Amino acid sequence: MIEDKNQQRTELSQLGEFGLIDHLSKNFEVKQQSTIKTIGDDAAVLEFKDKRVVVTTDFLVEGVHFDLSYMPLKHLGYKAVIVNLSDVYAMNAEATQVTVSIAVSNRFPLEAIEELYAGIQTACKLYNVDLVGGDTTSSTSGLIISVTAIGQVDKDKEVYRSGAKPNDLLVVSGDIGGAYLGLQVLEREKEVFKVNPNNQPDLEAYTYIIERQLKPEARKDVIKLLQDLDVKPTSMIDISDGLSSEILHLCKHSKVGCDLYENKLPLDPQVISTCEEFNLDSTTIALNGGEDYELLMTVSQEDFPKIKANPNLTVIGYITEENAGAHLVTRADQKIKLTAQGWNSFDKD
Ligand code: ADP
Ligand code: MG
Repeated sequence: MIEDKNQQRTELSQLGEFGLIDHLSKNFEVKQQSTIKTIGDDAAVLEFKDKRVVVTTDFLVEGVHFDLSYMPLKHLGYKAVIVNLSDVYAMNAEATQVTVSIAVSNRFPLEAIEELYAGIQTACKLYNVDLVGGDTTSSTSGLIISVTAIGQVDKDKEVYRSGAKPNDLLVVSGDIGGAYLGLQVLEREKEVFKVNPNNQPDLEAYTYIIERQLKPEARKDVIKLLQDLDVKPTSMIDISDGLSSEILHLCKHSKVGCDLYENKLPLDPQVISTCEEFNLDSTTIALNGGEDYELLMTVSQEDFPKIKANPNLTVIGYITEENAGAHLVTRADQKIKLTAQGWNSFDKD
């Protein structure tokens, strides 16, 4: 929470817009060769020589995408960068630069924005990307952050949603469902806290899933791994809305169907135990919980020997002809049509 610390409060108006930009950006170092001109002019200048350039952008809106009562600002800054890098990696590209635009109300002191930028800086360092620009403006109520990420990829190496072919393997990195469950735990603790503010929650049993929610990572390592294994996926997408929804995107764009196997879904033990505690079906959570930022891809059967022993990659099904449709094959060997209850920001509720 931003108001609960008895710390210094410097009004943003004391610095002014330009003072604030200078203050926030002064500690960022340039690492990428492709960054020719960074923050400080009317525009950044980048040079990519013979590479292709990928560009992606995402909004994070207070009250819609995050709740500052349990999301520390440092984590929010980190996550705002990560969700964009994840989209770059989903193109099989290397992330190189980001721009960060913020709209802030006077509810936030300088110290809060410093925290946000500390998280942004940590992500930039860890993922080796340069902050090369942005925009700063005021907002009447909440905090809005928009990050744009830029990346590079060799010609013919980029991977789209549209390349999956029948018989390809459906593969996912890491494990899924954790970020959504982490959010459920945080929401529950928030309610407990409202009733009794002195109640300090014991979150020991949920450290992994809470971290998945508050401090997600983008799978830069998986892009490198695929390169090292000499595997170019036939299609790829990152898991932001939930596995079902992403599988259906791949199927639609590639004009294929698929069989997904329930017993192959990679679940962390904490996901299983927390599902039991909350009386939730772990398959439903794995299929529909979002924000895991894992990579979902299809891989040609020929490449199976290269990926089969790898602990970072799990084969969860295979691609079929379009007219066969997209199905979940249950543990009881029943075939159920896949539907997406994924996260939709235009849903009424
Ligand atoms: P302009 O008026 O041309 O839009 P600004 O004063 O908004 O210029 O920005 C000056 C410089 O600071 C630009 O390089 C811009 O990209 C950068 N910048 C502005 N806001 C941010 C921010 N929140 N984070 C990082 N860089 C920023
Ligand atoms: Mg501007």
